[in-house]
Amino acid sequence: MKILIDNASVVINNDGIYSIKTKSIVIEDKYIKEVEDTVSDDEFDLVIDGRNKLVIPGLVNAHNHSYMTLFRNSADDLPFDKWLFEKIIPQEDQLSGDNVYWGSMLGIMEMIYTGTTCFADMYMFVNETSRAVEESGIRANLSRGLVDIDGGGDRRLDEALSEIKDYEKRDNERIKFSLAPHAPYTCSKDYLEKVISKAHQLNLGINTHLSETRKEVNDIQDQFKVTPTGYLNQLGLFDQRTLAAHCVYLTEEDMDILYQKKVNVASNPTSNLKLGNGVAPVKYLVNKGINVCLGTDGAASNNTLNIFKEMQMISLIHKGVHEDAELITAQEALYFATSAGAKALGFKRLGEVKAGYLADLSIIDLDKPQYYPRNNLIAALVYSTTGEEVETVIVDGKVLMHKKIFKTIDVERVKYEVTKINNRLKRGI
Ligand SMILES: [Zn+2]
Repeated sequence: MKILIDNASVVINNDGIYSIKTKSIVIEDKYIKEVEDTVSDDEFDLVIDGRNKLVIPGLVNAHNHSYMTLFRNSADDLPFDKWLFEKIIPQEDQLSGDNVYWGSMLGIMEMIYTGTTCFADMYMFVNETSRAVEESGIRANLSRGLVDIDGGGDRRLDEALSEIKDYEKRDNERIKFSLAPHAPYTCSKDYLEKVISKAHQLNLGINTHLSETRKEVNDIQDQFKVTPTGYLNQLGLFDQRTLAAHCVYLTEEDMDILYQKKVNVASNPTSNLKLGNGVAPVKYLVNKGINVCLGTDGAASNNTLNIFKEMQMISLIHKGVHEDAELITAQEALYFATSAGAKALGFKRLGEVKAGYLADLSIIDLDKPQYYPRNNLIAALVYSTTGEEVETVIVDGKVLMHKKIFKTIDVERVKYEVTKINNRLKRGI
């Protein structure tokens, strides 16, 4: 497929500084072929008029549990332990594989709708979220959540490994896999060691939750006389490429470890605020040189999967908390949501609108009141955009949504199926 986006405003990354240039973009197969003032080719399968449109790199949601859309607005205004152990886990116990497929599809639909083209997911039920990713055309780094507090750890690890093996046979570069020990408090030491050794053996990345709550830090400290970061480091977990979600409570020494071990931190500002878990020390992580990216976490603790909201939130919350309006600029927030996320999820040549890069991008309709007058479109992206303005989404050179019409997802079917599942969950069967 060959696509021309003609004469558009384009977000260009020049040595780490984003600016807007008027360009035409040629996409051929999976890649961006040209980003030029005028293009040489003249035959295309699709021409998109770029006038009054803004082309941005597809956004990366670096921490999600997409099937949790099924629990959206079902457990609000509750403290973390009550939320997780009394509301979420009992609902998860009632889910079938098919339910997870439809919940994931709803999550993917919402992400595409708001300009996200790639996400990291930790989920249950092998094959179901992968199937939704494969069918929808979005890009993802997937991992089956691994927990052994209930004795089912080996079964879950076997499921994760058999799924990874199954996908090795398919030639699908849109999907990567990691191993996901859920958290230091839901995995025993022996189990963590087993998962880490498998990750080393198969050279797989790790996706985990780390230092999300003060209670987690206190409990691990009591049990092992070391912080959660120090504990995972002692076990060798960070020797593989690691994506650690949250990282709210860290010591100076923890941050040194994360920097030395090149751990990627997925910050989830809305989820941390909503569950009353605090504010991550993003200012210090960035100053240390740690790769910080952005996630929504699941829809049960956010309650949307909209990375525009997270860009705005991470910027505003840190300005407010530190009483410093120069902190986490629009430029930095956009970097977190694009290139930093792509790097954290292990995708190369992703995160910029640039020749030779993967053709993952979103097109925004600039003809909205909130975009007038035109002063600074990078600021407008972070501070004025709700996500509704995204009109067209392309992943891997394929159009997934055009003029707000989904091309790969049966929207009404997804709404019907998740409503049916939700009615069953509400009846408790
Ligand atoms: Zn999470």
